[in-house]
Amino acid sequence: MKYYAGIDFGGMSAKAGIFDENGKLVAKDSVKTSKEEGYAVTVAKMAQLVRDLAASAKVKVSAVGIGSPGVIDGKEGVVVHWSNYAWEDRPLAKDLSEKLSLPVSLTNDANAAALGEAKFGAGKNYEDSIFITLGTGVGSGIILGGKVFEGSHGAGAEAGHMVIEVGGIPCTCGRRGCFEQYASASALVRDTKRAMFEHKDSLLWELTGGDPEKVDGKTAFAAAREKDAAATQVVKNYIMYLGEGVLNLVSIFRPEAVIIGGGVSNEGEALLQPLRKYVSERLYVDCERVPLAIRRAALGSDAGMYGACALVLG
Ligand SMILES: [Zn+2]
Repeated sequence: MKYYAGIDFGGMSAKAGIFDENGKLVAKDSVKTSKEEGYAVTVAKMAQLVRDLAASAKVKVSAVGIGSPGVIDGKEGVVVHWSNYAWEDRPLAKDLSEKLSLPVSLTNDANAAALGEAKFGAGKNYEDSIFITLGTGVGSGIILGGKVFEGSHGAGAEAGHMVIEVGGIPCTCGRRGCFEQYASASALVRDTKRAMFEHKDSLLWELTGGDPEKVDGKTAFAAAREKDAAATQVVKNYIMYLGEGVLNLVSIFRPEAVIIGGGVSNEGEALLQPLRKYVSERLYVDCERVPLAIRRAALGSDAGMYGACALVLG
């Protein structure tokens, strides 16, 4: 039996798992990381994490996959740019490979999560799937023929930055009206707060104890379940924008499945059912002719670790 390691590197920590050749997780652990410790220390910590895990599971690791935030050139194994840690052109795959004397493959964190869901989670019965995470921003990963599509030098597959409202809300990328300004959890929170101030009689006030700062991604859905009119409108609007973004992606790639992850996906069918309806009513080629599944992600915060392993599992 051969064994592989998958590392999901985030801003605060690196989480690693050891998997057997069938993709079964045999051990996992994480280590805290910080910007201040510097690149070399972070890489050394990741290497040590893999060594410790292999030792505790009493196995020999054959290859390591890693998912990292930032703009990643997967072919070259380089973190081209990651602003949080101020990394520029860091050859992360090569450096980790030298420390461990093992082959190392690298992709970006959203691609890794997409691949994890595609191989082991909600997308495992589909060759072509698109993964969308609804969190602070909107992350996306495109899997075609079972492989990550990342664009030239890893700079593509950034669905969060497709414009769905020309001249709309300014985005961190410099454009206006990007998908993530309307479909992220942050956008949902912003719109929920706005609805509160416009509707002083809304149940939203009661649910937050009168404090708009207590609004989170669940608040509008919770009030909408109680038939609150203002919250129902917020949810409807949110699903409209999410639906338009999904329709854009489906029009181009026509995957077999769209997998929805991230905090907002915890709403489950309250989100997915109206989303499916919105999308199916507007598809260029309808679902009767070409089936399209819209499903909730299955692996939660482990998706990136599974996907990183899938990079080297083959
Ligand atoms: Zn943008």
